[in-house]
Amino acid sequence: MELIINKTQNPRQKPDYSNLGFGNYFTDHMMTMEYDEGQGWHNAQIQPYGPIPLEPSANVFHYGQETFEGLKAYKTKDGKITLFRPRENFLRMNRSNERLCMPAIDVDFALESLKALIMLDSEWIPTEKETSLYIRPFMIGTEATLGVKISSSYLFAIILSPVGTYYPEGMKPTNIYVESKYIRAAVGGTGAAKSAGNYAASLKPLKEAKEKGYSQVLFLDGIERKYVEEVGTSNAFFVIDSELYTTPLESGTILAGITRDSTIAIAESQGIKVNEVPLAIDDIFEFAAQGRLEEAFATGTAAVISPIGQLSYNGNDIAISGGEIGKITQSLYDSLIAIQYGDAIDPYGWVEKVN
Ligand SMILES: *Cc1c(COP(=O)(O)O)cnc(C)c1O
Repeated sequence: MELIINKTQNPRQKPDYSNLGFGNYFTDHMMTMEYDEGQGWHNAQIQPYGPIPLEPSANVFHYGQETFEGLKAYKTKDGKITLFRPRENFLRMNRSNERLCMPAIDVDFALESLKALIMLDSEWIPTEKETSLYIRPFMIGTEATLGVKISSSYLFAIILSPVGTYYPEGMKPTNIYVESKYIRAAVGGTGAAKSAGNYAASLKPLKEAKEKGYSQVLFLDGIERKYVEEVGTSNAFFVIDSELYTTPLESGTILAGITRDSTIAIAESQGIKVNEVPLAIDDIFEFAAQGRLEEAFATGTAAVISPIGQLSYNGNDIAISGGEIGKITQSLYDSLIAIQYGDAIDPYGWVEKVN
């Protein structure tokens, strides 16, 4: 398939790069392609960023066939542009698409299109410390019908957003509300897919936790409300007796985070034992009481590694690492961003060059 490039005649105003926040600004261009049953993917183009025309009866507005991804591009000190494990994102999108009965994309074509888009908008990549260009690929069902059925047509798009550091005032441990009423995903559901509905359903628990003064929610499993699943839209890690513990992927209820996978690999390379086993919330509180819960953190592309300073469960609160950033947490964060920003050797082949 050919990628047609249609450049904007009206470049947009660049934002103040020292105060970007997350996901507030978008670059000059977007990449789009369309799918129709019988025809497959076609009409791939890079075009000016702007509104997408859709029928009011389009599938996505009513039955929510939608998947998305999130990854970042970086400018290294020597002016090179890099991506972090981008193939993993497109492969994961195809797994999400499979669950939502949506068509697969060609991973190589998506990656080449993304690189062309980034090169065209390369001036939008911020260079201030710990800033990056956030990349949001997504796909929606576009068939115009109110029948509950698998859409016969789709739109795939990639948009780009320059983002600031997640920690403008330095990395601060978060206080987390352990959610015992609402769940995020159930066995057999769509928890392992990055699909809009999961996030729509998580907004109410997050709202209620924020009203109680917490910044995020830790979700428990949907059957027993006993085992740790995820922290908001990031994967949960605990350091107990100097070993790392994280939720296994087998249940299909958590998202297989690429930051999670990278963190596990780096920890193992530093000689830290990593246990991918179900962790009961009662046991975590018990370990804390025994002084064996040393650190906790959450991983995801946006914040990379976010230290957890406090957990609240059924009215009981525990402080972790004395509310400070733990040593292992800090070391894993430093190691990971050094690879992502090209400040350290990448022994894993994770960094993909764009130029
Ligand atoms: C995106 C996401 C993550 C983190 O995945 P990364 O690949 O590390 O960004 C974790 N949990 C949920 C629910 C997510 O949507």
